[in-house]
Amino acid sequence: MDKESERWNYKPAGTVKLNPMFSRPTRFSSIFDWYASYWFQLSTTTLALALALLAWLFFFPALSSFAQLNLRSYGTLYLLNLLPHCFFAGSIHQWLYRHKGQAKKFKFDPRDPAINSGLYTFRDQVKDNMFWTICSGISLWTLFQAIVLWSMANGIAPVLMFSKNPIFFILVFPILIIWSSFHFYWVHRFLHWPPLYRIAHSLHHRNVNVGPWSGISMHPIEHLLFYTNFLIHFVLASSPVHLLFHGYMQSIHPIFSHSGFEKLYVANKERAKMGDFFHQLHHRYFECNYGTVEMPWDRWFGSFHDGTAKATNDTIDRKKRMYKK
Ligand SMILES: [Zn+2]
Ligand SMILES: [Zn+2]
Repeated sequence: MDKESERWNYKPAGTVKLNPMFSRPTRFSSIFDWYASYWFQLSTTTLALALALLAWLFFFPALSSFAQLNLRSYGTLYLLNLLPHCFFAGSIHQWLYRHKGQAKKFKFDPRDPAINSGLYTFRDQVKDNMFWTICSGISLWTLFQAIVLWSMANGIAPVLMFSKNPIFFILVFPILIIWSSFHFYWVHRFLHWPPLYRIAHSLHHRNVNVGPWSGISMHPIEHLLFYTNFLIHFVLASSPVHLLFHGYMQSIHPIFSHSGFEKLYVANKERAKMGDFFHQLHHRYFECNYGTVEMPWDRWFGSFHDGTAKATNDTIDRKKRMYKK
């Protein structure tokens, strides 16, 4: 047994897998399985898509109404972000940490969320995470989308209609995922630059033992950098449904990836994939896995932790070299 297993309450079997698209020799069946697992099954990608379609078809105001500072339209946008975010973070937290519905089954870190610790705002990890998520995260996420929508409505950002080019309209969704992974890796590496880490990113890293509310619990400076992701809509023609999808991918996906559990287990059955051991390793060992499993940036730049004890040793050595400098 790999020594790394002893450091976790639960550790997924085998090593952490990256998108097989970039592995050689090319195995088409693995690539198909990889994409099928999140486009054709219950996943945060399909959830983001379903939420975006639901919001767009039933609640979203006409794009032209965003041309002026229409309180009703911008207020609706805010609620379309706030309500689903609080619903998912709140109910997952309720099931896993308050109701303890699956005890510690599939939980990576053995500990409970911290209380009475001076490290956190309000001396409470969950309250701290909720505060930074709601006050800074959801506000800045909405602000960036508002800027894009205002620009779309005023002819500054390009708008794509389904009827004009249906194939490209569909392709914009996977393009946004690849873009997000690319952007996240570089912004995240920048956030680990010591001065910026101390001022901003350390707030997110208070959470070594993460939970659903940790997902976008970040310092406002980090949110400002993180959500520059939305600026792609100034060059890539898209529509409000893409923008909503992009927002849910950026913000609701981290609720699941930071849940601290690999799987949702209800009534003696695995119901959904949840946590992301790749990112959990980042929260534990810091100087590794800056990106996501979608793009092998970490492998290419030598910061990949595959979940083995050897990778932990390599990370510790790299950290020592970095701090020496
Ligand atoms: Zn980090
Ligand atoms: Zn994180």
